Amino acid sequence: MKQSYAASPEQSLGRRVNEPAPTYRSEFQRDRDRIIHSSGFRRLEYKTQVFVNHEGDLYRTRLTHSLEVAQIARAIARTMGLDEDLTEAIALAHDLGHTPFGHAGQDALNACNKQYGGFEHNLQSLRVVDWLESSYADFPGLNLTFETREGILKHCSIPHARELGDVGERFINKTQPSLEAQLTNIADEIAYNNHDIDDGLRSGLITLEGMREVALFAESYDRVMWDYPELKGRKVIHETIRRIIGFQVIDLTENSLRNIKEANIQNLDDVRNHPQPLIEFSQKLFKSNQELKRYLRKNLYFHHKVYRMTRKAQLVIEGLYNAFIEDLKLLPPEHQKLAEQYQKDKGEKGRALAVIDYIAGMTDRYARAEYKRLYDVN
Ligand code: MG
Repeated sequence: MKQSYAASPEQSLGRRVNEPAPTYRSEFQRDRDRIIHSSGFRRLEYKTQVFVNHEGDLYRTRLTHSLEVAQIARAIARTMGLDEDLTEAIALAHDLGHTPFGHAGQDALNACNKQYGGFEHNLQSLRVVDWLESSYADFPGLNLTFETREGILKHCSIPHARELGDVGERFINKTQPSLEAQLTNIADEIAYNNHDIDDGLRSGLITLEGMREVALFAESYDRVMWDYPELKGRKVIHETIRRIIGFQVIDLTENSLRNIKEANIQNLDDVRNHPQPLIEFSQKLFKSNQELKRYLRKNLYFHHKVYRMTRKAQLVIEGLYNAFIEDLKLLPPEHQKLAEQYQKDKGEKGRALAVIDYIAGMTDRYARAEYKRLYDVN
């Protein structure tokens, strides 16, 4: 049953451009549907999560990652009586602004664009839904509700928050977003920690023996082997991971419901004005999650094979950025036009913005092809 502290589509703070209410859908359902029909959403299929797209067909991409986040977040939203449609909309849109080549791409673009304010993927996701999608007659972007937009903007630096208006305010006032936004943020973490174990083991970059040094993994693994002493191969890994996800979901749900009860939260205003987020793991699980993250960072994300890919991604992103920023005529005509227009409005920063929008929107393979077109003389 939906609870009084859930976000409500009837009391939405609205869209940037007013629209008549949908006929048979809620405002948040309409947001979710628009996200799925967007071109940014389709591009997620060809963007790297951790392993680049061409390394194998079974690894997660940004698209399957986003679907897993939506799946986990929606299940918890239902148990907690939150708005499922809003939760799903935020989850499906949360990575729309990611660059090609995963975090390597984002770090490279941030470094390239330092003098014009860097690059933040959360901010870019918001920019995609607010401005860059271009399919509707009456407005730019997808014209989503305030609630979906605030959920997409997970983090934001204060200077950027000041430029954003309504959705930026909470970073200045230090208030909280809806429970649906808080939940999706943690569901993202549950999804990537677990699927990165799975993809990491599949790739052979990390091993079962190694993973058993991590308490959270070891406990779950030992229980699987206790229940099924003969079990082998992929089934052991899948059984272990599904139990970790189940354990994390239950801990998060119960601990968050306890927080809500203890703080006597009655409505969305109480949620927003609470001094800290209400959706959180228990202290114990928070600590074991930290241990798992440290392990993955050290052994998977910084594995020399992943690192080599990272280096290559940097070269491609830097190469594209430098070429376009030096000579706008290298951009495709429609982006050139935008760059000239932005430059008129905002000067050099505007010019950089057009270059950033073009590069961030690329899929992995498009970025590689574009790099070749610019630098390959054969
Ligand atoms: Mg994510």
